[in-house]
Amino acid sequence: MPARKVLLVAAIVLAPATAAATDYFAASASMPVYAWEPAVTCGDAGVLLVRQPVLPGRLGVVMDLGCDLAYLDFGGRRVRVQTLAGRDARERRFALWAVPLEWTAGEQVIGACVGGGCAPLRLRVEDVPYPKSEIKVAKKFASPPPSEQERIKRDRVNIDRAFAAGMFDGGLEAPMCSLQQFTLPFVLPRPPLYTSLFGALRIINKEKHTRHLGTDFDGEVGEPIVAAADGTVVLAEDLYFSGNSVFISHGLGLFTTYFHMTKIDAKSGDHVFAGQKIGTIGRTGRVTGPHLHFSAKLWGYYFDPAELFELDGWLPDVD
Ligand SMILES: [Zn+2]
Repeated sequence: MPARKVLLVAAIVLAPATAAATDYFAASASMPVYAWEPAVTCGDAGVLLVRQPVLPGRLGVVMDLGCDLAYLDFGGRRVRVQTLAGRDARERRFALWAVPLEWTAGEQVIGACVGGGCAPLRLRVEDVPYPKSEIKVAKKFASPPPSEQERIKRDRVNIDRAFAAGMFDGGLEAPMCSLQQFTLPFVLPRPPLYTSLFGALRIINKEKHTRHLGTDFDGEVGEPIVAAADGTVVLAEDLYFSGNSVFISHGLGLFTTYFHMTKIDAKSGDHVFAGQKIGTIGRTGRVTGPHLHFSAKLWGYYFDPAELFELDGWLPDVD
């Protein structure tokens, strides 16, 4: 099959970066209004607050005020509750997780666990109206050529290894954890102009569904890309789909990734700081034009990276 057609289809699926750039914060201003709601009481004065509603593809947040919670239990998957270091005045115990895109409106019950016992924690899930579009292509063009399968498989192994390396801190068998490296606030990897937001759903030939699992930032080839927060580079190399890519572990199971660079200015194992240049805008990998695909992943799930830049704003002050 002609390589050009494969490239075109893959570009449509993976890198919808042809739209005009739009203001990033104007888009995030339309995000729902969250409220802290008490969910579980414990002891004399302890309470767990949940940021409601809980939205697929966004961050879920629990704040522990005096319950000394150990972890949240998602049907066997555990997320540790711990101090979220940032500004000194805001140090409190939190659990953060990425709400799976598959969750639908209704109630989800997870466990709020102390030692051996768990109390039910009710989450009010609401839908997010992510944009949806249908694309029709010849079936044989929907997949990369067989000659690239070996390469893609190898990339997958390296990516999985990178995510695993940043996830664990010494073989804890239950709650996943690694030491927090970031401090609030997060910084934008590029000026606040985007061409495609997180969550857009594409239905190919009425059967194959793909999600846009990052935000595409505008830019010209050669313009700088910076790290969104302190962290450790866990992968920095040329990958089939995402081109020159950098993966950063920020600890606590949180990662950010930066795709399609012309040049990578970091290497695996580097400690990087918020705002440090890690590469330049490019059009490597399967893309139609130069842009930065920026994504954020927490405990194995991608979420809308816009949440990172809002994080500092909604953490309540200590009384
Ligand atoms: Zn993208």
